[in-house]
Amino acid sequence: MQRDPKTNLRRATIVYWILLFYIVAALVWWAFLLIQQNDEIFQLQKQAIESQKLAGQSLDAIEEQRKRNFAKYLGEGFFFMLMILIGAVFIYRSVRRQINVQQQQRNFLMAVTHELKTPIAVSRLNLETLLKYELDENKKEKLLQMTLQENLRLDTLINNILIASQLDGDSYKISKEDISLSDLLNDVVQQFSGRYPERIIDSAVQENVEITGDPILLKLLVSNLLENANKYSPKDKAIGVHLFNKNAGVLLEVSDNGSGIPADERKNVFQKFYRIGNEETRRAQGTGLGLYLCKKIAEDHGGQIEVIDNLPQGSKFKVVIPS
Ligand code: ADP
Repeated sequence: MQRDPKTNLRRATIVYWILLFYIVAALVWWAFLLIQQNDEIFQLQKQAIESQKLAGQSLDAIEEQRKRNFAKYLGEGFFFMLMILIGAVFIYRSVRRQINVQQQQRNFLMAVTHELKTPIAVSRLNLETLLKYELDENKKEKLLQMTLQENLRLDTLINNILIASQLDGDSYKISKEDISLSDLLNDVVQQFSGRYPERIIDSAVQENVEITGDPILLKLLVSNLLENANKYSPKDKAIGVHLFNKNAGVLLEVSDNGSGIPADERKNVFQKFYRIGNEETRRAQGTGLGLYLCKKIAEDHGGQIEVIDNLPQGSKFKVVIPS
């Protein structure tokens, strides 16, 4: 049976601290014994000189030797201690990172299983209902609309998983086409509005904003940001979409009026599989791949992405891509 990564982390931490304590204590003890031995040798030599058993040695010379040895042991001790501490910090950080990745992969597997099964189950139920019962046009359309939404959700999820693994494995060949980012953005927003007709989109898209890039990846970037804005903000609040030329590049902003992202999580959310909170308390569905992909896509286009506070509330994702 596989152990919970948290238990692993706890055990590894305990073993690590015990070992580190033992190594440091052994080093201090070793230095202490050497210094003591040095003093004893000095005392013996001193007695031998005083009783004239050690010919040809002066007191000054053995005192000098004692001081040199003392400095050598202290110097070596400090150097070893420094090396041990540097190594200890390095091991501690990499083990923690490794165990966190394990935990995130576990969460991802749980989330992805759920995310794959739900749309399939919902679509099947809707289609079975349509086949079995004579429904009025309104209900039929509602069911079909829901099925379509689930289908699109599945499509986005599969695209995220496939493209993330292809980009990671360098097997995705990024195309470089001259595209109108304005048209691409308007298309994605239109599709999004078709899926969530009740959502208000406050869109300000400058015309003829052009860049060279991969339209599939850029569409994925925009739709992930829109999906997140939709997931993490109240349904009756507007989502802002802005695009304009800025300096030697383009600036795309997607903002929402949701709960926002705490300052200390703003770097983490772009990590692969990272999701704020824990699986038990989290309500929104997801896999932790969306923002990782957004960052990767922005960087693969020579740009960058960041998240800041949206005023008065929520978050604002800013993507800058050189034109
Ligand atoms: P997920 O599939 O969990 O949405 P993402 O990589 O897209 O994965 O996002 C990572 C985490 O960042 C999310 O779990 C969520 O906690 C947080 N997040 C992303 N977008 C927003 C947003 N617009 N508002 C608040 N939190 C967000």
